[in-house]
Amino acid sequence: MIVTIDGPSGTGKSTVAERLAEKLGYTYFDTGALYRAIAWKILHDNIDLSDLEGIKKMLQAFSFHVETQNGKKNYKVDAHDVTKAIRSQEVTAIVSEVSAMKCVRDAMRPLQELFSYEGPTVFEGRDLGTVVFPHAEVKFFLTASPSVRAERRLKDLQQKFPDRAGEFSYEDILQKIQDRDAYDSSRELAPLKQAADAILVDTSQMTIDEVVVTLENYVKEKSK
Ligand code: C5P
Repeated sequence: MIVTIDGPSGTGKSTVAERLAEKLGYTYFDTGALYRAIAWKILHDNIDLSDLEGIKKMLQAFSFHVETQNGKKNYKVDAHDVTKAIRSQEVTAIVSEVSAMKCVRDAMRPLQELFSYEGPTVFEGRDLGTVVFPHAEVKFFLTASPSVRAERRLKDLQQKFPDRAGEFSYEDILQKIQDRDAYDSSRELAPLKQAADAILVDTSQMTIDEVVVTLENYVKEKSK
């Protein structure tokens, strides 16, 4: 059973996908973390974004692992624990450009497909229902108004980086969210869009628990 959850940033996708997977006893795969890990590696190796040959070479040896500890996921690139670093503003600033590259998407698709053979999984990202798993049994597309999403992102960043809390501004985050959505939605390859057969859920006025229950009911209904 494959469940896909796509949508723009700040809709609660990651939290919802993780909790939904837990409730259903499925595995959870955050594909954004994968693209963020590549962006982190490009920064770490000082590869210029215009150096496509350099990026392709890096991808051939790219090693990404997910380790679960006390219910929390830790992401590793080679021996580096990048769990926190992949959420930094530096990574966020380039991840859309990185994930729009054909060589990056081509390299990541088989990896995601391979993961799906391990058992029932909730995949969360931008193109799971449209490109990677067009035959997924249940597909969701989450949305929320930009202002709600910016508020959620601000809270999230303040919690993750308390020592830098003063640096984050709501207006700046809102602008960046809108820019990233526009970029993700208009790119040529695997743009962010709702699959024709995906269930649309607007989370603006919903709590995370309400969203999880809504999605869980759909999946249970479908599995009957
Ligand atoms: O979900 P998250 O905000 O962590 O994703 C970071 C970026 O990775 C997105 O803005 C998008 O550019 C890219 N991404 C993607 N395809 C996916 C998941 C994420 O292009 N399936």
